[in-house]
Amino acid sequence: MARLQVSGLVLAAGLLAATATGAAPAPVDAQTINQIADEGFNRGEVVETAAYLADRIGGRMTNSPAMRQAEHWTQSRFKAWGLSNVRTQPFEFGRGWWIEAASVRMVAPRPVTLRAIPIAWTPPTVGPLSAPIVVAPLRSPRDFAAWRGKLKGKIVLTSLPTPPKDETKAPFERLSDPDLAKLNTYEEPSFDPEAAGKRAERQRFRGQLDAFLAAEGAVAQASMSRSDGGLVHGEGSGYRVGKTPLLPAVEIAAEDYRRLARLAKVGEVRLEIDSRVHFEDADTKANNILADIAGSDPKAGYVMAGAHLDSWVAGDGATDNGAGSAIVMEAARILSALHVKPKRGIRFALWAGEEQGLLGSFAYVDQYLATRPSSDPSLAELGPYYAADGFPVKTLPGFAEMSGYFNIDNGSGKIRGVFTEGNFAAAPILKEWLSPFASLGASTVAAQPTGSTDHVFMVKLGLPAFQFIQDPLDYGSRTHHTDLDTFDHLRPDDLRQAAVILATLLLDAANSEAPLPRNALPTPQKVTDPFRYPDPTPTN
Ligand SMILES: [Zn+2]
Repeated sequence: MARLQVSGLVLAAGLLAATATGAAPAPVDAQTINQIADEGFNRGEVVETAAYLADRIGGRMTNSPAMRQAEHWTQSRFKAWGLSNVRTQPFEFGRGWWIEAASVRMVAPRPVTLRAIPIAWTPPTVGPLSAPIVVAPLRSPRDFAAWRGKLKGKIVLTSLPTPPKDETKAPFERLSDPDLAKLNTYEEPSFDPEAAGKRAERQRFRGQLDAFLAAEGAVAQASMSRSDGGLVHGEGSGYRVGKTPLLPAVEIAAEDYRRLARLAKVGEVRLEIDSRVHFEDADTKANNILADIAGSDPKAGYVMAGAHLDSWVAGDGATDNGAGSAIVMEAARILSALHVKPKRGIRFALWAGEEQGLLGSFAYVDQYLATRPSSDPSLAELGPYYAADGFPVKTLPGFAEMSGYFNIDNGSGKIRGVFTEGNFAAAPILKEWLSPFASLGASTVAAQPTGSTDHVFMVKLGLPAFQFIQDPLDYGSRTHHTDLDTFDHLRPDDLRQAAVILATLLLDAANSEAPLPRNALPTPQKVTDPFRYPDPTPTN
């Protein structure tokens, strides 16, 4: 109760400030804000939703049996809460893949069970595979010649061990006021015509390396975790039909990998890999999940919130991004429970294929908002993340209807504000809409653009699409894509706070007189530094 009174006071202060700056007053009346807070804080279900996704269903790799289960369960929740038009949006993806059981052991010179995980979409071993290792650093096709004829029958450790890092930063953090202030610095966009090609070369090398090792008669590939502390990830990229890697491959925890490499310098080391993994090919289509609250004015368009439901496989997909999915679902539940009748429709999206390059949100953009050709057809096979940047942009009828998108995918920390993603005109409006929540720590509007998640393709079209600022907690240090991504790393208070703020902002955007301002539809960029000579260092 005290919290609601404080919110009311802050709202009044916010309205005064709005008059002073000339921004329009908040479109959601104070009473409704307090009802949203009451429903979220006192009868919230977000914690149970997140627990079901993380504990009961677990890691949700796109097209895996767990993700199929999540597709069904989330739709049944939306329906039970009274959302309308609950549906899937299928799009072509590729193979499902999951781990039944896996173990990696050193069997000589002494027995040790290693912390390790199969790389996603690599094939199984046929029973336990026992073989000697060789440390063969292979960073580009230029390194292949030195190892030709030396890898037959070997488990190849394909990188040199990097030294352990001195951990000087606290692994769990909340943002201080100076941290938040630093985020409000706009980094101008830059355009380097070589950048996409270099990224693509790195991506293509994974396939080239697998083919080289298989041709040389190697029996498996092992790589080192990029994190210390026993963490493993298991990210892989061979999800497309016909692109499955040839060799079983595992990622080994950094400390275990370094030990193997040290021992291999002075004698023979044997590993036994048992990778019981499975492919699912019955349906190669992935599904976004969509659900609506109808708007009263059919000409006013809609606003939208989204989070990705898919995850990696090492953990339970709790912070990435069961938390965001549960927050989006809870915002839907709260608004439906209050029987809101917004001017614009409100759409809720749970994306698939985010971890493979924002594929689900791209499929939505491509089907409903706008299409664009690839600037370089040779990059098209690598997916939209590499290729969907050509001209001209062709808008679809749904383009005009999209009036605002809010994405949540920065772990499970509470909302501290919003990134405006280069939309300068939206900053004062978002500041005003957040003003009731200063007491909840969520008043920062930061200019810094963010990438790597599902608002990106909308931002690239100039649409008003935003990502939230969240307290990092231990997301970057421990849980992001790792085997520690479990429910324990969620904070119930933070989840409830985020759902209340998301529900309110959606209603603000749905009821505001004018839609949120857009950026211009993109046209070709000039090279940022016209006087730079091309980089003479080949990456391969
Ligand atoms: Zn992720």
